[in-house]
Amino acid sequence: MKRENLLIILSMLILAFFVAKLFDNVNMSGDSRQTKELIYSDFKGLVASGDIVNAQIVGDSIIEGFTQDGNSYRTYFPAEDPSVIDFLRLYKIPINYVPEKNLPWYLSILINWGPFLLIFGIWMLLMRRMQGGVGSGGLFSIGRSRAKKMEASEMKVTFNDVAGVEEAKDDLRETVEFLRDPTKFRRLGGRIPKGMLMSGSPGTGKTLLAKAVAGEAEVPFFSMSGSDFVEMFVGVGASRVRDMFEQGRQNAPCIIFIDEIDAVGGSRGTGMGGGNDEREQTLNQLLVEMDGFDGMEGVIVIAATNRPDVLDPALLRPGRFDRQVSIPLPDVKGREEILKIHAKKVQIVDDIDMSIIARGTPGFSGADLKNLINEAALGGARKNKTQLNLADFEWARDKVLMGTERRSMVMTEKEKRNTAYHEAGHALVSALLPNSDPVHKVTIVPRGRALGLTSYLPKGDQFSYDIDFLSNRITIALGGRAAEEIIFSEVTTGASNDIQQATETVRNMICNWGMSKSFGPIVFGSDSQHNVLGRSIGKEREYSELTAEEIDKEMRNTVKFHDEKAKKLLSDNIEILHKIADILIKEETIDGSYINDLLKKNKPKANKVGG
Ligand code: ADP
Ligand code: MG
Ligand code: ZN
Repeated sequence: MKRENLLIILSMLILAFFVAKLFDNVNMSGDSRQTKELIYSDFKGLVASGDIVNAQIVGDSIIEGFTQDGNSYRTYFPAEDPSVIDFLRLYKIPINYVPEKNLPWYLSILINWGPFLLIFGIWMLLMRRMQGGVGSGGLFSIGRSRAKKMEASEMKVTFNDVAGVEEAKDDLRETVEFLRDPTKFRRLGGRIPKGMLMSGSPGTGKTLLAKAVAGEAEVPFFSMSGSDFVEMFVGVGASRVRDMFEQGRQNAPCIIFIDEIDAVGGSRGTGMGGGNDEREQTLNQLLVEMDGFDGMEGVIVIAATNRPDVLDPALLRPGRFDRQVSIPLPDVKGREEILKIHAKKVQIVDDIDMSIIARGTPGFSGADLKNLINEAALGGARKNKTQLNLADFEWARDKVLMGTERRSMVMTEKEKRNTAYHEAGHALVSALLPNSDPVHKVTIVPRGRALGLTSYLPKGDQFSYDIDFLSNRITIALGGRAAEEIIFSEVTTGASNDIQQATETVRNMICNWGMSKSFGPIVFGSDSQHNVLGRSIGKEREYSELTAEEIDKEMRNTVKFHDEKAKKLLSDNIEILHKIADILIKEETIDGSYINDLLKKNKPKANKVGG
């Protein structure tokens, strides 16, 4: 528990004690027996009437008298007048002397003033907190950054400890060069990005990679998590940001690492009812600090997130986190290397082929793989093994697989096959249609919500497209689903995005671009878009019900036509489809050029079905 919290709880306890004590005090004079206070003469009268059965003299000026039925009365008498004792004696009332409960002076001050002192103290503490660390050190350092500092000598992680993210490593090498010798860079006039954003699923090694940059460059590493900035008290986050950058400047060259930046860097003004002031203030401070120094000082800020989509666009503007490094989940080769890195730390029999495990773990992140090795070691230890073998790892894989419960995008064998054919479908159709963007890369490594991805490499920026190109684009989009249907005679939900894209293109061709043969050059709907709350709510319809029906029909026909075209292309070249899918299942990522080579060798049938 944090120290301040402990202190607050302690103070509360003491306060509670005093409050209880206060009530207790009240009770001492007024508990169940009800001591009534009487004036002296009334008390005398009571004694005279014989109601008092015994008495007690407390200190030198209080008499308490008790009646038969347990009531008690008290009165004060002048200390210099001893006649009261004689008076009691007279009525044969036994008298008991007790000394007055005299508290030592310091205790009575504490009881009387303690609660006020405490409330005052707590109030002071809160005020200090809100102002963000007015005092220095100890209790009042709440506004200080709390960044964890690792000295250069402590940074043991290097690029060799990170595998399967070669592209990201290449991106970061330049940064390492710069941090090693900022002056050299300055002389050469190299522009160095001061802010870098690493995005990727959890456990892909973002934190590890940031540490590796510091380790390679042998510079100090300050790390802090986005959620550390956001505290209960307004202004603390901003002050922590300020302090962290201050520390960074003093220790340059160094790396400042902000983990989970989405905790502070989410879009501003999205929260209902004014949003979160504290978070916004923190974010603003971060922006100010990012603008306030130039990379030449030798401070590099690396931020990590698994939700780059929710970040405030202001963070990504030039001069801030303008360099983005994306860290994908590892493919089969990357997984093999990661497994090898972590397997070094456990005893294994010599001839384990880690590629077997790598192939069986699609969708695993680096952290999942590390966990797999761990589980294998634990399982082996339970069986009193001295060395782990393949079976141990396979057992561990199943355990991790079952345990992950699709927490991350862990794919089953069946999903992997489905995805492979789906992506192979896109890629093959695209390769068979000359007037289309060439395939760049095909992968079945899941990213985001997509199970796989076929990426294209446009030949250049193109601002207008001809009908043939657009028609091919629709065919390609439908190619994924078509392949699934041909091979498995069933389709999965994985194609929903494709269908949406195809439908959108078809609608645009018919309704906006006048590319439909039956309608000709006519625009349906008007472009006047209404802005409500910053969002367009679509178009007004400016055509009849009948036309709407016709448009629907035309759209359906067009989609159907292209769907059939895709299926024909694929089934005519089904051998090649199988080949691409097989390779995908094995390697998970293949290059566009590979598909072209395959086509050259296999003489594809690319029959024209007509525009
Ligand atoms: P992230 O910050 O992306 O959530 P971490 O860097 O915290 O992921 O990864 C957690 C652990 O998983 C690391 O400490 C490392 O042991 C292991 N790990 C993750 N990715 C890799 C990788 N690419 N190579 C080697 N180990 C990795
Ligand atoms: Mg992390
Ligand atoms: Zn698809």
